Amino acid sequence: MRKTDTDSDNVQMSDVLCDFCHREWTEDVAMVEGHQGSCICGSCLRVAWESVVEGNLDDSTEGWKCTMCLEHRDDPCYRSPAYDEAYVCRRCIRLSAQALRKDDGEWDAPGPNRPE
Ligand SMILES: [Zn+2]
Ligand SMILES: [Zn+2]
Repeated sequence: MRKTDTDSDNVQMSDVLCDFCHREWTEDVAMVEGHQGSCICGSCLRVAWESVVEGNLDDSTEGWKCTMCLEHRDDPCYRSPAYDEAYVCRRCIRLSAQALRKDDGEWDAPGPNRPE
């Protein structure tokens, strides 16, 4: 997500917040962008991965929608414990994890099911 006073022609890293924990994007934080400025940071993605991919947990509720792809899917999803409206579907967790592993050499998914 972006801060409400963000100049859309000149978006700074610090204007970009993780939708799941609302931390600012800095050089130390890996971040993956979804649709319409939605974002998930590397640490939230790791928690989501552990929950949904490794733990087979599903936080879905009636009518939930993925914050990253804006779709309602039948996939299981992870819901931010801090911000009720933030969900990410399993497909987006996988795609984001693959993207982060490529873009950011430091980041890796936890657990045995990590992507190639
Ligand atoms: Zn986060
Ligand atoms: Zn999604």
